[in-house]
Amino acid sequence: MHEYGIAAELVEAVDQSVRSHQGRRASKVVVGVSPGAVEEQSLRSAFDEAKRNTCASEAQLVLEVAPQDVYCLDCEERFVVGAFESESSLATRARTCTNCGGTAVLALNLPGVVLRSVEIEV
Ligand SMILES: [Zn+2]
Repeated sequence: MHEYGIAAELVEAVDQSVRSHQGRRASKVVVGVSPGAVEEQSLRSAFDEAKRNTCASEAQLVLEVAPQDVYCLDCEERFVVGAFESESSLATRARTCTNCGGTAVLALNLPGVVLRSVEIEV
């Protein structure tokens, strides 16, 4: 479950951010997720696990879409997969051309999880 590793890194980054702003705790954590990078439910429960006894223990986790550029080798169309869906269909969608339905597609940017912002209570 690589979601646990990701969640641990996120909590670590949130913790550092709170400290560097001399805050008391984080109230909201906004994370950008590329389609197919993680499973939403897994990431949420991993985050809930990892945030215990940290500055992020009461933080609300907000997941936003990090759009992914995809290139189809069949029809040479470029498109962006953007909608964040909670189901694993997300990973499938990122591998199917929206133009011709082909599956010979390349992700032009690597899927990933990025900490976008932290709301800190002082
Ligand atoms: Zn295509």
